[in-house]
This record gives sequence, structure tokens and C-alpha cells, in this order.
Amino acid sequence: MIILKFGGTSVSTHERLETICTIVQEEKERQPVVVVSAIRGVTDLLLSLPSASVNERKSIFVQIRGLHGKLLDQYDSSLQDQVLPFLEQCEQEIQKILASKKKNSELSDAIVSYGEIMSSYLIATVMDHFGISAKAIKATELIVTDNEFGSAEFLPKETTAKTKAILDPLLKEGIVPVITGFIGSTSNGKVTTLGRGGSDYSAAIIGYALSAEEIQIWTDVDGIYSADPRFIKDAKLLPQVSYREAAELAAFGAKVLHPRTIRPAMQKNIPVRVCNTLNPTNEGTIITKDIAVEKRIAAIATKKHITLVTIYSTEMLFKKGFLAEVFALFTKHHISVDLVSVSEVSVSISLENDEHLSAAMADLKAIGTVTRSESCGMIALIGEGVGSVGHIMHTVFSTFESNNIVTQMISQSTANINISLVIPSEQIDTAVVLLHARLINQKGAK
Ligand code: ASP
Ligand code: MG
Repeated sequence: MIILKFGGTSVSTHERLETICTIVQEEKERQPVVVVSAIRGVTDLLLSLPSASVNERKSIFVQIRGLHGKLLDQYDSSLQDQVLPFLEQCEQEIQKILASKKKNSELSDAIVSYGEIMSSYLIATVMDHFGISAKAIKATELIVTDNEFGSAEFLPKETTAKTKAILDPLLKEGIVPVITGFIGSTSNGKVTTLGRGGSDYSAAIIGYALSAEEIQIWTDVDGIYSADPRFIKDAKLLPQVSYREAAELAAFGAKVLHPRTIRPAMQKNIPVRVCNTLNPTNEGTIITKDIAVEKRIAAIATKKHITLVTIYSTEMLFKKGFLAEVFALFTKHHISVDLVSVSEVSVSISLENDEHLSAAMADLKAIGTVTRSESCGMIALIGEGVGSVGHIMHTVFSTFESNNIVTQMISQSTANINISLVIPSEQIDTAVVLLHARLINQKGAK
């Protein structure tokens, strides 16, 4: 059994819907289970509904209808007669929710879930028309989550039991389930969402529950690259990536995969393949536990804007629990820390989102001298065994030195998967170009 997840762009034109049907048809032997995103643009439109005026709402509904309608235009009236009433019914249900007195976050999740509810119904109907016996399924019946509306976490035991109970009989009958990505429900039946871009995560959750053979994420790029291909033109497509490498890359904002996707796959050792709907015969990138090489720099990733905080205190020298005190303050102020580098008398911390930092500064000042520098960026060399790659630090520092790039902080752990360097934000672009050329494409001075 395999999971095939199709993202927003993969379900947004008539041609792509036909491609999807062909892909599903070709995988028939492997019992495909399909997971879909909303049609591209629909999620944003739905999210704008609660704060919109009555007139604006009318126009939003027209746009949503238009995005679905344009896909149906190419099909005969029997298909349209089946889908249009369903879309109308969804619209009425959304209106009802808008008029209800639900709390904001609950209201928003309940409304936005219709993006995937509408797309899964439309796609299942198109598949039926194509000759594949398919059935739209709401993930609210399968995925059980906690109460974190907007970014819910799934509960493995409950989800596995429900998913198997509903999907196993369908699969036995040869029916292809077409499941809504992005959504789940709490144990008392309230609709939740898994975070923006969360349909990848839904696919991994369903794969986990069914112990799938493979999870395929169909998107609009060929796979995972050695750097952002929109910026580095000779970035290389990576045919194979380890779970740890993929998780690091996703955490750095590589848009190909939602960062939470890897964990459920990893727990059950299920390979995840990233494929391109625009280039379906391409092998894509396969993500597995082990890869063929022992040490490598697979990719270079960056964060352009981060903040560096340094706490300097001679008290740290002999005091026990100093670091615990520092981190307790970050926890108290809801600040998530990225990198940490410690000396005998100082600790430097990098963070991405500093909205709570000003409030924390006063508390931090009570334990030491604190400096805060904005306009920093982070560049990360990612790969299994990256620290053991010969000459790596020599190449990095000689490149930086000859281009006047000043390193502000370095972090490398014995996990040996990531070497991160903090440098001035405006030098990030230059640094990526040079390091990608020298370390990955082996060009230029060492
Ligand atoms: N439709 C949701 C979003 O736009 C989930 C997804 O596409 O993965 O964020
Ligand atoms: Mg996505």
C-alpha cells in the first residue's frame, strides 16, 4: 500500500488532474491511498472570510467557486451536476459556521477545512469519471488530534485505530480513498488543522497508521536540491537524502516538505519520495534512513534574518545551573532557540523570531551583560557525517577570509549532521554562492 499526496499546484489545472489520474492508475497494483491539498489559492481565500465584510464575503465565495469551476469546465455536464451541488452545500455550511459563536481559532479551522473537503470531493469524482473507483474521505474521521487549533498534533494510537477501521475495508474492495490533507479532529469531534502546508504531514500520518510501503509527495519541483534552485542555478538534484538530512533541510524552510512530515515516516521506517507532477517520469528524491555515502555535504541552507544574543557573566565560571537559569528565561518568554554556543564565561544564542525578546532582555540583564545583534544570517552545511568531510573548515574559513566575511558564531554538534555559521545578513548571498561552488560543485580555490 502506498500514499500519494498531491499538493495545491498539482490539483489546480485540468491537465494536472488528468496526470494525477494516470499516476494513480499506474500505481493500482500497490493499493494507492490519495491525500490532497485544497486547490491553490482556496485556503488563503477561506482564511480571509471571518474578518471580511458581507460584500467582501460575496466576492470571496465567487472566487472560490471560480477556482473550482474552471477545473470542471472541461468535463461533461454529468460530472458538473455531481460536483456543483456539493460545492453549494459546502458554501452554505461555511455561512452557518461564520454566523456561529465559535471561538476565533476554532472557527478558522472549521472554515478552512472546506478547502480540502471541496478538493477531495472534486478529485474523487474526476477519478471515478476516469475509470478509477474512488471515494472522498474526510480526515476528520481518521486523524485524531490534540486541541491546538491551527497547529494540531496527531495522537498515534487513536489515529491508527480509526484510520485502519475506515480504510482497510475500502482498500480490500479496490476503492481508492481520496483523503483531505491538512485537517483532523479532536477526540470530541472539533475540526483542527495541522498548520499551513500541513497536507504533507497528513500523508505521513496516514502512512504511519497504515504502515505504508512508501509515501510519495507530489509537488511542482523535481525533488530536493543541494541549495535553493531559484537562487543557485547549478544546484544539484539529490537522488537520495537521509531522514536526518531532510529534517534539517525542512527546518531551514526548504519549501518542498513540511517539517513535521519526516517524524512519522521515520518511526515506521517508511521511505518518502518527492516527485514532480509536471515531470512524472522523473525519479525524484527518495528519503530513507540510510544513504549510500558515509560523509558528505548534501546541501547548503540559509536563514537570512536571525538575532544573536550573547550573555556574558564571570559568575558562570563556577556556578552550577547557570545555563538552566538562562534557558528557563527563554521558556518563560516563549522564545524558541536555534543555535547555542557556550564558553566558560559566555553563552551565545541565535533565534529566528524575536518578537518576545525585548520583554526577555530585562530578565536576562539580571544575570549578566547582554548584547543583542540583529541583521545576522545563518548558513548551514547539511549532510550525514558533514563534520568528517576533509578540509571542510579550511575551505569555509579561507573562502570567508578572502571575501571579508566575518563569522560571528559557529555551532557543530557530535550528531555530525549540520555545521551552522552566523555571519552578517548582507553577506549570506555571497557566502552561499561561494560555498556551494567550492564545497558542492568542487569549483574554484580551496
Ligand atoms: N491547504 C493547506 C495550505 O494551503 C494545506 C496544504 O496545502 O498543505 O496551507
Ligand atoms: Mg506544500
